[in-house]
Amino acid sequence: MKKSSSAIRNPQSLVRPLVRHLDGYVPGEQPKIKGLIKLNTNENPYPPSPKVLSAVKAATDGRLRLYPNPTAQLLREKLAKLHGCQPENILIGNGSDELLALATRAFVESAELKTGAAQKDSAATVQFFSPSYSLYPVLAAIHGARTNVVALDKDFGIPPLAVLKKSKAWDFCAALTFVTTPNAPSGRGYSTAELEGLCRLHKGVIILDEAYVDFGGENAMELALKYPQVIVARTFSKAYSLCFQRVGYFVGHPALMAALDKIRDSYNVNGLGQIAALATLDDLKYYRANFKKIIATREQLSRELEALGFIALPSKTNFILVRPPCFPAKDWLEKLRAQKILVRWFKYPSVRDFLRITIGTDAEADALLRASKRILSGSVGT
Ligand SMILES: *Cc1c(COP(=O)(O)O)cnc(C)c1O
Repeated sequence: MKKSSSAIRNPQSLVRPLVRHLDGYVPGEQPKIKGLIKLNTNENPYPPSPKVLSAVKAATDGRLRLYPNPTAQLLREKLAKLHGCQPENILIGNGSDELLALATRAFVESAELKTGAAQKDSAATVQFFSPSYSLYPVLAAIHGARTNVVALDKDFGIPPLAVLKKSKAWDFCAALTFVTTPNAPSGRGYSTAELEGLCRLHKGVIILDEAYVDFGGENAMELALKYPQVIVARTFSKAYSLCFQRVGYFVGHPALMAALDKIRDSYNVNGLGQIAALATLDDLKYYRANFKKIIATREQLSRELEALGFIALPSKTNFILVRPPCFPAKDWLEKLRAQKILVRWFKYPSVRDFLRITIGTDAEADALLRASKRILSGSVGT
């Protein structure tokens, strides 16, 4: 071997400093242990419609050797009908996470590459409220963008417009703003009127991330078709029981969709995912019945946890944020885990006293209640 080939002592040095120092996104745990009740990543407890399963099975044959439709044309046409717009208003992603990343790359300058005062900071700014989806700061960091993070009010409401304007903390010119609506991890919903007030004043792109909108929130789809700077993000993952297939979409102005289209991978949405999503749209009745069940379980579980001394915040999503009694939330996480129930705890100051609990089946809710009673009665340790 030539000497030069051994010259690289530290392979880490081959990695860009920005990437070397990056803290990546930490997804909720996908445990290998059997028998664990999984209420930590907001997956739907009900399976996809039988029609979706048979469509995917029927497509699983020798055709897997072929590339899928590169623009997910049929799916875009069907979604356009559903939302009363044109296929040009729609872009499909490998999960909505992919689209959020593409938006960061398409609309935000990287602060790293900035060439002096000619460029205003807003052009390199990704903005969002805190707490909200913990992927946003990671996307900004990957891109080398600035972040502007503004705290939600104590009850997780969006600060009134007058306050946002006066405080100057909010940048109405930020290149890209993410709003999780309904909010995660609090579950709080926002009215379309309130969101419109905010969106109207924005000079940059504003993405309304409606991952949980089917669980009772007011949807703001009309804003994506009214204001060129507004994009609505949706996903088949949570409400449509399709996390595994990775299909999400944007609805927005054709000029923005075309820009994103240029920078995505040609075959970003896998073929079985397209087929599953199409079949989903043919059986919306099945899913609407599930939304009703999940909402009923959510309301019932909230009442029963409150009877045990928890504070359960009102939710428009398929999870609830609860403040547990007697022990710190982090201890509850461990105690519930010892009882084979997995929930989520975030260490951010605004939510560190809370647990986020995904709404499962009624049987899973009962198991959670039984475990909580055991923990409160001191009959079990961690
Ligand atoms: C789960 C989630 C997403 C991502 O959904 P995928 O389509 O599975 O990538 C986006 N935004 C929020 C707020 C989410 O909770």
